Amino acid sequence: MNKNVYYRKIPKVDILLEDERIRQMIETYSKDTVMESIHIETDRLRTFIGACEDEKEIEERIGGLTDEIGRTVKAMHTPNMRPVINGTGTILHTNLGRAPISPEHIKRIAEVACGYSNLEYNLEAGRRGERYSHFEKLLCKLTGAEAAMAVNNNASSVMLILSSLAKGGEVVVSRGELVEIGGKFRIPDVMEQSGAVLVEVGTTNKTHYDDYKNAITEETKALLKVHTSNYRIVGFTESVEIDELITLAKEHDLPIIEDLGSGVLVDLAKYGLTHEPMVQESIAKGADVVCFSGDKLLGGPQAGIIVGKKKYIDQMKKNQLTRALRIDKFTAAALELVLKEYLSEETAIRNVPVLRMITKPLEKIEKEAKSLVRMLRRSGFSGHFQVVPCESQIGGGSLPLERIPSFAAAVRPEKISVPKLEEKMRHLEIPIIPRTANDMILLDVRTIDRQQFKVIADQFRSMEDEEYNHRNSGAY
Ligand SMILES: *Cc1c(COP(=O)(O)O)cnc(C)c1O
Repeated sequence: MNKNVYYRKIPKVDILLEDERIRQMIETYSKDTVMESIHIETDRLRTFIGACEDEKEIEERIGGLTDEIGRTVKAMHTPNMRPVINGTGTILHTNLGRAPISPEHIKRIAEVACGYSNLEYNLEAGRRGERYSHFEKLLCKLTGAEAAMAVNNNASSVMLILSSLAKGGEVVVSRGELVEIGGKFRIPDVMEQSGAVLVEVGTTNKTHYDDYKNAITEETKALLKVHTSNYRIVGFTESVEIDELITLAKEHDLPIIEDLGSGVLVDLAKYGLTHEPMVQESIAKGADVVCFSGDKLLGGPQAGIIVGKKKYIDQMKKNQLTRALRIDKFTAAALELVLKEYLSEETAIRNVPVLRMITKPLEKIEKEAKSLVRMLRRSGFSGHFQVVPCESQIGGGSLPLERIPSFAAAVRPEKISVPKLEEKMRHLEIPIIPRTANDMILLDVRTIDRQQFKVIADQFRSMEDEEYNHRNSGAY
């Protein structure tokens, strides 16, 4: 085969630029990216011709060049970060962006972020203001603390607190509380970065009051409690609660810091979960500084929220690190909105998506699962569909042992394997991330919004159509 014949058949750039479809692409996107796509795709085509020995295939590829250029330029302009449908039943899925923000809040955030705002401008006084001012009073009201601020995430909170209160000194912490948060981030390492020296006391399973007492020296700057949010030590265990440590801390004039991990402001025990330590309880017991994540059980934006005694919070606000760890306008706006929902437990449960999912009644989930199964059956996708009971999890390193009863729409594909279907679902326009169990695809309805059912069913139909076209084009 004389390949030169085919190389010559590749249209030149100036010919392509005359093509009505290419002109349309330039109109829609830009000349720069269309030119780049032309180069990428013609190079690719040349390589293909060099490697392919089938004349018909080569002809086909040359004929499809414009389509490929179109796909490439479209991909260049399509954001890679996109919404996905979470069928895993894990509510705070760290890989899927943890807490979803409510559409109403997003609308408000967009209004604030599109233009200028009073982020750091005091409208009353007509001068510079503080970015924490929008939610500091709210946080104080909700938690009973004297002062509050927020940084980029809770790992930053721990670092900032220790750097402000204990740099160059020692911090006493129980061996049973040296948590690895995930992604290889470990509390001891974060603490080391702050310039504080960690003094570990007790053993993995037991730490006594005296262990803390004996560890206090001239160098001690603070006592630290870390809530072991993502694991539990069970059995022969003992730990010292904040209220017991208060007297010890007072005697030595030391602050007690508590890292709660998850920021719970409502009593989850009322909704059938294990009681998680609440921020207001910690403050009431006498913790001087408490920190927690904004996007775990609080259900807000990624942030590290710090509340406590004013003299300590003031020290943190003045710390140079604060400038490096500060929150942006999106976060400030989102925090104020989510915290406002907590002014009443009723609005929090109704309007904060994480809380709404946690408290979603089982009967409602079952009904929705039935409706999703019906829609999937009608989609024409070849498979068996049924409602199956399953268990949702909180995730995000919160309440690790907790399992909430739920229902899933289960899919057993007929023409393809479960792993193949799972892969196809990941490549959909709006990817669907399911759980797999017993050779079935499970879509836990607890973490799926009703509004998404139609999209799911439509996409199942598109997968079936694609299979059909694939078979009939003889590509199998
Ligand atoms: C999750 C967690 C952190 C880290 O919070 P991020 O907001 O993810 O940075 C720190 N401490 C504890 C105890 C946690 O559970």
